[in-house]
Amino acid sequence: MGSNHVDVIIVGAGGSGLAAAVSCGEQGLKTIVLEACPQTGGTTGIAVGSFTAAETEHQRKAGVRDSSSQHAVDLANFAPKEIEKRNNARAREFFTEHAAETLEWLQSHGVKFVGPAPEPPNSQPRMHNVIPGAKAYVAKLQLAARKVNARIQTHSTVTELLIESGRVLGVEYQSQDGKRHQLFADRGVVLATGDYANNPELIKRFKGPGYEKIEGINPHACGLGHLLAEQAGANLVNMDVTYGPELRFISTSVRPFQQWLPVSGPLAAIQALLTRCLPDWIFKKIIKRLLVTWQHPESSLFDEGAILVNHNGQRFCDETCVQSRNLDVSNQPEGQAFILLGPAQTQQFSNWPHFISTAPDIAYAYVDDYLRLRPDISYRADNLLDLASLVTLPYENLKATAEQAFESGDQGPWVILGPVKSYFTTTEGSAVINQAFQVMDRHDKVIPGLFAIGQCGLNGMILWSHGCHIAWAMTSGRLVGKSL
Ligand SMILES: Cc1cc2nc3c(=O)[nH]c(=O)nc-3n(C[C@H](O)[C@H](O)[C@H](O)COP(=O)(O)OP(=O)(O)OC[C@H]3O[C@@H](n4cnc5c(N)ncnc54)[C@H](O)[C@@H]3O)c2cc1C
Repeated sequence: MGSNHVDVIIVGAGGSGLAAAVSCGEQGLKTIVLEACPQTGGTTGIAVGSFTAAETEHQRKAGVRDSSSQHAVDLANFAPKEIEKRNNARAREFFTEHAAETLEWLQSHGVKFVGPAPEPPNSQPRMHNVIPGAKAYVAKLQLAARKVNARIQTHSTVTELLIESGRVLGVEYQSQDGKRHQLFADRGVVLATGDYANNPELIKRFKGPGYEKIEGINPHACGLGHLLAEQAGANLVNMDVTYGPELRFISTSVRPFQQWLPVSGPLAAIQALLTRCLPDWIFKKIIKRLLVTWQHPESSLFDEGAILVNHNGQRFCDETCVQSRNLDVSNQPEGQAFILLGPAQTQQFSNWPHFISTAPDIAYAYVDDYLRLRPDISYRADNLLDLASLVTLPYENLKATAEQAFESGDQGPWVILGPVKSYFTTTEGSAVINQAFQVMDRHDKVIPGLFAIGQCGLNGMILWSHGCHIAWAMTSGRLVGKSL
């Protein structure tokens, strides 16, 4: 085998790509992973890290009796009906059948989990949370990939598939110095390139105009794999289905707490041990910190009278109309807005049942949690003049807006949370694949030599409960190695 020949080329070193690298290496295949970014991880590396599965050892130890078929049934209750009816039921059953094995396989490679935690409408607790956070998947799988001699090469963007007589033979990629290289794979090329949440052209083409200003949370989620698959003749499905747009607070400039925690070595082992013995209240505190970093503000804020103002201190939409609201935010100056709570909402959202964000049934974040844990996006003042100067909004405009929206005069407490932006969290369209992860063309024929996994191989599944995207990324990565 020459230096530009391997058995398998994996495009993308996010969760699915790294899992595939380990799995291919375990089968003795000479494997290379090409990653466009300077570092590995993709969206997986910035995720919360929940992994949802049924029939796991964690569940058995916790006395939870569950089945993967019930998991598949429960999954139908997460997405709105019009989205759920687009689901590929057979593919989703295949996923739930194999998710628990994947969790055990990850643990055999040193990834540690706590749980299971409940997440209604799941009928059983199924959410397993990786410790200390999603970076652990990346660190542990990279280590495992090294052990099985799978090579990971960063700064390498795959720009073309090399196709001859309909068969994918390899790829062309560009390295950091701008040079182009060709690489050939005897068994196959695996697209593990994540989603297209940050590709305005694809979003506009499939979802229609108006959405293209909305960014993906991961700026590198550009859908290059979807484009490569399309050029090879792949059948793409559900390309208009997106998780979001939804309002999210802009991310903190401080490195999130859980990213400081060790993911390997003796400190990580001690931490894992401690986490398993943690009393509930400490565990909830940790989750709450994650909540205010990543979760979106609840729409109930607006049902109860909170409003959105832009950088000019002006109100610009009907906040209770979710669809148009999220689009309107993206059309404001800097694509941003602030949530203004009057005295009534400030009091209301300080206690159950009125929370600002949640991981259902696990933790809830209120006004005080935001003021304490996200001081970069949370402001409280007793009058509007002080509030305007804290947030640097034009006072006269803010006062006029508040007078129209609230009946409380100038007397606070007033709270502003933000900026918020409209983001796509993930996109749900992908190539159609068969159960061997081979990409299918528009005539339902296999494209020889081409495979897709993770978000690039969702295969029409609707996976809207927490923890299923990562569970699929890891499951498809693990199984494609076996298939190859
Ligand atoms: C804030 C946030 C939190 C989330 N939390 C959770 C959670 O807790 N649980 C859950 O299940 N899901 C979660 N998700 C969704 C989940 O993280 C992703 O859907 C999943 O990790 C995607 O994995 P992947 O391997 O398909 O893609 P990625 O992890 O995105 O990996 C794709 C990789 O391919 C690389 N790449 C792309 N194109 C090329 C190319 N042409 N050449 C070379 N490399 C390329 C990219 O740079 C990237 O590294 C979250 C998403 C977000 C945004």
